[in-house]
Amino acid sequence: MANIGRFSIGTGDRFGREGAAQIAAIKAIADKGVTVDIVWNKSNREHLTIGTGPADQRGAADGAIKATGWKGSYFVDADHISLKTVDRFIEPCDFFTIDVADFIDKAAAPEAVAAFTSRRGKLVGEHRVPGLSEPLAISDTLLAATASRYLAAVSEAGAVYRRIREKKAGKPFVVEVSMDETADPQSPAELLVILAALADEGVPVDTIAPKFSGRFNKGVDYVGNVQEFLSEFRADVCAASFAAKSFGLPPGLKLSVHSGSDKFSLYEGIGSIVRELGAGLHLKTAGTTWLEELVGLAEAGGTGLKIAKEVYRSAYGRYEELVAPYAEVVDIDRKALPTPDAVDLWTGLQFASSLRHVQAESRYNRSFRQLLHVGYKVAAEMGARYLDALAADRAHVERNVTENLLERHLKPLFLGGR
Ligand SMILES: [Zn+2]
Repeated sequence: MANIGRFSIGTGDRFGREGAAQIAAIKAIADKGVTVDIVWNKSNREHLTIGTGPADQRGAADGAIKATGWKGSYFVDADHISLKTVDRFIEPCDFFTIDVADFIDKAAAPEAVAAFTSRRGKLVGEHRVPGLSEPLAISDTLLAATASRYLAAVSEAGAVYRRIREKKAGKPFVVEVSMDETADPQSPAELLVILAALADEGVPVDTIAPKFSGRFNKGVDYVGNVQEFLSEFRADVCAASFAAKSFGLPPGLKLSVHSGSDKFSLYEGIGSIVRELGAGLHLKTAGTTWLEELVGLAEAGGTGLKIAKEVYRSAYGRYEELVAPYAEVVDIDRKALPTPDAVDLWTGLQFASSLRHVQAESRYNRSFRQLLHVGYKVAAEMGARYLDALAADRAHVERNVTENLLERHLKPLFLGGR
């Protein structure tokens, strides 16, 4: 089923205007010898907030490909869909992020757990996994506990997968299973068991998004112990490759890192691990492209800057409403937020450098950035005024979109340390 390349990046484009600027970054990294497939991801929640549908995203993607003449492969992701939301995504999408986090810890039928543990009894023991110095140990207890925690989620993944397959009627699509939006991280041993269960369920998973240790807040850097993350990530990569071979899953099976934009302290380490192990990677960004639109508008000055300030004023006033849906994945210090009156006095440069994610920049304000990130609803409500400003200040906007993706993401990840 897999027709996705070894490396791919999920790029959001909330307003569907930045495809060409994103492709410019993909092309620039290709010129450096690294092929990265581009995947436009947009969740049902984002579509509902903005008032678009999956067909609009397909149109924007195809349009950008046509306009740029880009020959690389690209996908449109039905991001974090479930059985309830998948249907309208099936036709326009060819990448499906099947989110089963809500089914983790839903009690699986005791017979199903018993059948799984007996079928997969050979998983108990110590596995010598290529790439890992220590064997991966799975006890009876871990096997049974993982089965009862995850089998309901795995069976839901199967139901969603079969629904898509039936409707796709032979057309290829990429299968991602995501378990990241949950409280507890999965260990590499649990990941191995989950992959065995997905294989048994007949889900040809191309990429899997586990929940990693540490915090992956939207639009800001990783919070946690980087060395611990990297050893966990390495073990997960090895477990996934081992699982692909042992359980007959697609040979290109790779890990997906969600909320993966802006995790600057991890990129070099992640990049060197996947290169060393010959593994693949899907890095899904948090849809921060729209923040680069705001940076560009602010830099442009005039109406663009006025609109950027208006978005902030409104987001500041609607804090609870805008933050609530993202409460688990943002960490805003309200005391660090400037008042809208203060922001109104800023120059475009001040606004841009407070928002742009350059940690060495003294004006950079991560709370300001996170509040604006969840405030895309405000820009959506502006409708044509916002979109017209993007058109008027196109050069400023595109320069920032491309630079962010290329210089702060693709290069450190795929060329870092070289
Ligand atoms: Zn996710």
